[in-house]
This record gives sequence, structure tokens and C-alpha cells, in this order.
Amino acid sequence: MSKDRVVIIGAGIIGLASARELALRGFEVVLLDKARVGRGASRVDSGILSPLRPWRVHTVVDRLAATSQALYGDFVTAVTNESGVDAEYVKSGMLVVGDTHEPAATEWASTTGRNIEVLDRSGLTRLVADIGRMREGVFLPDVFQVRMPLLLKSLGLSCRKLGVEMRANEEVLQLLQSGNRVSGVTTTSGQISADAVVIAAGAWSDTFASDLCLRLNVTPVRGQMIWYQDSVDRVSRPVVDDGEHYVVTRGDGITLVGGTVENVGFDSGITDKALKTLVNKAKNLITGLGELEPLGHWSGLRPARAHGIPLVGAHPAVDGLYLNTGHFRNGVTLAPGSALLIADTVEGVSNAGVGVSTL
Ligand SMILES: Cc1cc2nc3c(=O)[nH]c(=O)nc-3n(C[C@H](O)[C@H](O)[C@H](O)COP(=O)(O)OP(=O)(O)OC[C@H]3O[C@@H](n4cnc5c(N)ncnc54)[C@H](O)[C@@H]3O)c2cc1C
Repeated sequence: MSKDRVVIIGAGIIGLASARELALRGFEVVLLDKARVGRGASRVDSGILSPLRPWRVHTVVDRLAATSQALYGDFVTAVTNESGVDAEYVKSGMLVVGDTHEPAATEWASTTGRNIEVLDRSGLTRLVADIGRMREGVFLPDVFQVRMPLLLKSLGLSCRKLGVEMRANEEVLQLLQSGNRVSGVTTTSGQISADAVVIAAGAWSDTFASDLCLRLNVTPVRGQMIWYQDSVDRVSRPVVDDGEHYVVTRGDGITLVGGTVENVGFDSGITDKALKTLVNKAKNLITGLGELEPLGHWSGLRPARAHGIPLVGAHPAVDGLYLNTGHFRNGVTLAPGSALLIADTVEGVSNAGVGVSTL
């Protein structure tokens, strides 16, 4: 259905990546956000292009992560060429630390063909001179990171260049339906007719549950993060991850420490309690951070679903309606694969979805 009009609700990483992919395939795309483009969870994201302790995630998520990771290099190169903005896609590796090495990691690596190195204490200190007191760890050399504000900016510019109509500060209030088919949306500025609508509204994706008579069961989970300015002679660290919290160091010394996992509904505030937890975590993971004061603190609402499995594909009951949401802690990692899958589904070249059969 080339040149059909597709409305995408939500301009986070998932909506932007989907809009770009659909525009490349010749669709007329309208991308709507109730706030500014790229200001949801994606904005505060750490940009680690892998699940934390990836052997613990559901196989469905691991497979989508592998697909996305394989696409990432070409995706970032293309977006950089289209936009002129370099998103700092860097292979930093990821060091997963703990006091006991997990056999599940080596099993996962051998069954999925991923590279890992199991390290003892001296291996840890060789890799990160100021690592905390952990005795063992697992290094994943092939993990990349990206700088989120830059990736969002470059994707926004790229979408514009490809002809996507971007409408910020325009909230979708309702889905329009004609019989069993979606026919557009009502927004704060009026109605937009569409041949297809994609819900990519992150933590807010269940706003339309009453229109659909079916909940997507996407719930907000708050994540808080702090950042430091570290000395540039210490910055060639990999991502350091203890399964829940992590330290991400950029080339200019900016160092992020995240992330809390809090079920507090749509409250996106920051708290002193989280600040304390994150400062302690920072010191425990990287001793050098104990000498520094955090310079900033922010939070975002992750779109969570059971078992961390997102919804990517056609809505099971409403024709013309598509879902690309619920990516929880892995939205940036999973974005290129999810965009490809949703575009294949809208275009009708595939009906293989992720998560949608469980609705
Ligand atoms: C602290 C933190 C760190 C993270 N770190 C990582 C990481 O390192 N790696 C990783 O892969 N993932 C990470 N994540 C998770 C990742 O950020 C999310 O999975 C991802 O941002 C989800 O993207 P999204 O586009 O679905 O949602 P969002 O970025 O939240 O975008 C949804 C958009 O929809 C808009 N919207 C909602 N309702 C409407 C409506 N009715 N009408 C119009 N617009 C609407 C919102 O304004 C918003 O802009 C992190 C998350 C947090 C909070």
C-alpha cells in the first residue's frame, strides 16, 4: 500500500525510528507528540546498546536485541549521512560484575554465538583500573553505546529530510474507527485521517485502551539517573553493569550512573532517596567516582510489560492499527529491529510480530 498515510503516536526513539523506516519505504508519515520530539524516556536513556546481564532477558527480547545490534552500525551511519549529526556510536564493551561468575553467561554465549571473556580480579583491574571491590566479572567486548540526545536529534533531522510531517505539542486524544478498522486520530488540533496508525506512545500507550476495548498492559516504571564529569584520562572504561545499576562513561568524561526501577505510576519526579542510592552505587562500582560530586539528576518513565517483552506488530482485533511499544529497559537497543519489523508489517510483507499474540 505504497504512499498510504501512516500516523505514528509518539516521537520517542521508537516512533522516530519507525517514522524514518516507513518514510524510506514511500509512506506518507505524520509523527505526533504531545510534548517536544524526543523528550520522553528516550531523552534520559543511557544509550547502552545491550540489555543488562543479557543472558537473563527473555529469549524473545534477546533475539530482537541480536537483530537490532546487527543493524545498528548501518542504521547510525545512514542517519548520520541524512542528518549531518554524529550520534557517537562507540564500541566500548560492557563489563558485568558480581561476586560470583554466572554459568548462565557462558551457556548463553555458546548457544547464541556471542563473545564473552570471564575475568578474575586481576582481569577486572586490567580493564578498569578504578573498579570497585568485585572479585569476578564477565566482559562483553562487542557492546556499543550511543549518545541519546545526539541520536534523537539526528533521527529527527533525518525524518524531516525524508519528508515526515513532524507535529510536536499535539496530543492524540482518540483513535477514530470505522467498523473494525482504524481510520485516523483526533488530536488537540483536530482530526487526521490515516490508512494506518502506529501506537509508539511509550509508557502512555494504554491511553487508548478504552477506544480499543483491550488493554496493552504497558505500565510506567520510573528510572532515575545521575551524572558526573570525570577526568578525561580515566574515560576509556567499558560500561560497568552489576545487573541493576551501571556506569556509562563517554569520551569527554561525562559519566552516567543509573538506574532505579520504581513502580510509582506516572510520577516522573526525582528523589533524595534515589540520589543516595545512585551515589553509593557509583562509589561501589567505580572507586574514582567517590571523589566526585554528581552534577545532575533526572528521571524517565520506561514503558514496561510482563517479562520485558515489547509489542511490535499488528493489533490483533483492529485493522490498520499497529503497536510498537513496551520496550521497558531496552528501547534504544531494540529500536532498529522494531522499526524494521513494524514497517514490514504495515507494508504487508510480514505478519510476524513480537508479543502481539499474547494480547
Ligand atoms: C534512566 C533510564 C535509562 C535507560 N537506559 C537505557 C539504555 O541504556 N539502553 C536501552 O536500550 N534502553 C534504556 N532505557 C529504556 C528506554 O529509554 C526506553 O525503552 C525507550 O526510551 C522507550 O522509547 P519510546 O519511544 O517507546 O518511549 P518514549 O521515549 O517515552 O516516547 C514516547 C512518546 O510518546 C509521547 N506520547 C505519549 N502519549 C501521547 C499522545 N496521546 N499523543 C501524542 N504523543 C504521545 C510522549 O510525549 C513521548 O515523547 C532507559 C530508560 C530510563 C528511564
